[in-house]
Amino acid sequence: MKLYLVPTPIGNLDDITLRAIKILQSVDAILAEDTRTSGVLLRHLNISKPLHSYHIFNEHQTVQRLVAQLKEGKTLALVSDAGTPGISDPGFLLVRECIKNNIQVECLPGPTAFVPALVNSGLPNDRFTFEGFLPHKKGRQTRLAELAGEERTMVFYESPHRLLKTLQQFADTFGAERPASVSRELTKLFEENQRGPLSELITYFAQKTIKGELVVCVQGKEPSRGKAKRVYDNDSDDNEDDE
Ligand code: SAM
Repeated sequence: MKLYLVPTPIGNLDDITLRAIKILQSVDAILAEDTRTSGVLLRHLNISKPLHSYHIFNEHQTVQRLVAQLKEGKTLALVSDAGTPGISDPGFLLVRECIKNNIQVECLPGPTAFVPALVNSGLPNDRFTFEGFLPHKKGRQTRLAELAGEERTMVFYESPHRLLKTLQQFADTFGAERPASVSRELTKLFEENQRGPLSELITYFAQKTIKGELVVCVQGKEPSRGKAKRVYDNDSDDNEDDE
């Protein structure tokens, strides 16, 4: 009785791990956000397993049934359309219910969009906050106001048709000169990483038809004077807190 969360490629199909393939081959059934999307990947991997749908519209109804199956001794794997299940994708409810019911849960390491975006950004990544998608309407301004003083690099998921509006709101909240990056189509043929102040990113993307999947990283606010220095600023006094 075990639930595996299995990350799948975010673009490049070679990014599936050997262990992910082994687990998908060995489980009793696979739960998929979209059975058609995952069906394509499973056929590519020559894996034939019962495939059941598990998505945000049915997760509340199906969680108890899945917990019952796991308690009967079944081993299940959860996959999402791309990347790591549970990261801006369904998964959290099932994981929480499994833990409550003493069912083993194991998330395999593997593809997720925010890690390559953050590392590619060139922005400080010793500390960061993953913000996922901002609320679209209600709560959006409140969330932005909460982030105004954030000192860690912030990572956001965004859709192409909202990118410009979001970058403009970031410029209003954090200042137009705040360093940021936009990573588009990571791991795919037309991968693009644009880095610069928010004002430059706005000018660049305003001239384009924006397509594909996007991650936006925004550097945090400079720490106010008297606060601890960022570790990347100067490592000569690395151990100053240890004394
Ligand atoms: N579970 C996924 C993960 O682990 O990253 C995220 C799923 S979320 C529904 C989809 C969002 O992830 C996209 O709108 C985009 O912001 C980001 N994303 C996924 N694949 C991407 C890619 N290849 N390049 C850039 N962003 C990507």
